Amino acid sequence: GPEVVPQGPEDVMFGLIAAYRRDQDPNKVDLGIGAYRDNNAKPWVLPVVKQADELLRKDPNLNHEYLPIAGLPEFTSASQQLICGANSPAIKDKRVLSVQTISGTGAVHLGALFLSKFYSPANKEAKVVYASAPTWANHNQIFTNVGLEMKSYPYFNKKTCALDLDAMLASLNSAPSGSIILLHACAHNPTGVDPTQEQWKKIAQVIKDKQHFPFFDCAYQGFASGSLAKDGWAINYFIEQGFELLIAQSFAKNFGLYGERAGCFHFVTGPASSAQDTIARVGSQLAILQRSEISNPPAYGARIASLVLNDKALFAQWEEDLRTMSGRIIEMRKALRGKLEQLGTPGEWNHITEQIGMFSFTGLSEEQVGKLRDQWHVYMTKNGRISMAGLNTKNVEYFAKAVDSVVRE
Ligand code: PMP
Repeated sequence: GPEVVPQGPEDVMFGLIAAYRRDQDPNKVDLGIGAYRDNNAKPWVLPVVKQADELLRKDPNLNHEYLPIAGLPEFTSASQQLICGANSPAIKDKRVLSVQTISGTGAVHLGALFLSKFYSPANKEAKVVYASAPTWANHNQIFTNVGLEMKSYPYFNKKTCALDLDAMLASLNSAPSGSIILLHACAHNPTGVDPTQEQWKKIAQVIKDKQHFPFFDCAYQGFASGSLAKDGWAINYFIEQGFELLIAQSFAKNFGLYGERAGCFHFVTGPASSAQDTIARVGSQLAILQRSEISNPPAYGARIASLVLNDKALFAQWEEDLRTMSGRIIEMRKALRGKLEQLGTPGEWNHITEQIGMFSFTGLSEEQVGKLRDQWHVYMTKNGRISMAGLNTKNVEYFAKAVDSVVRE
């Protein structure tokens, strides 16, 4: 009977949101979830999304029919160009296969399911997914849910709050040849630490030498540098190097379409003569998996994104909206670091402005995070991660004072 189902733990992130909502203190600060907030701590509908929405509503031919199994074709093709680069050799050679998914989570899941069924490296021990330590908490659940084993490679150096490249390369080098390597394309969650282009080249070299299989998770394109092309650089580079690889692409953050679940999964194969045959076989299997899981992906978010991605003027407006978001976050990084240095808060705070994207790994301990919550009504994950988008000109000083106080205790 149902008594055999044990009580599961509450999702950490959604538990944090509930606790924040219950808190009645007027100074409370929400630095938990990775959703953009404007300077009034309110959700922001991108102006370009409003424009696209109006166009959509005026369209007399709009209906609520099912999308094809692989999704809205004009959405998936524009998504390919965005992530691979418009002049990508892989697109020209038709070596990219794309399936619309339930946002980035659905794309990671479809990739994981596909790998669990069809990935068969010569060395069976290589059927393991290596993820950065730390990584997005959901990665572990998504891959283990489909029966794949997870291991980790070193990534974040706690002393420097920066990338531990040597340890990462050594770990990738000692993993069994043909392992699956999960990489964050840009704006690494939760650390905000990305490899430089030179570092990416070294990472690519080890992955190539060891014949590992790269799987890029890209949830923040346009959010790291404010430039879509720059944030796509690592993926473009790997494709140029001829890798066969997987990409999970989310439009939740960069379009502010969190609840609409717009995303894409891409399979890119290398420039072999058998590429077309590979694409056909992989596509046939992905269609079967998709059919049994969701039948057809959701239409609304994909239509909005598609209108913007396929129209020059709307695309330019989108780039401006992205710069608004990334620009405000950069300002908050500067403000927070400035206030902490002004207060003479013990420790180094340069990493606050050096890290990029939506998150910052502050280096605060679990105990300090607890004090921030209990004494200051500041809500953040216990690993010391803050969502920079939760800071604004009205609360950044309050937060800096709170950090200063718990660090000195
Ligand atoms: N990957 C990473 C690393 C993320 O941070 C997120 C968003 N939290 C996702 C994937 C997927 O998010 P969504 O399903 O909302 O697109």
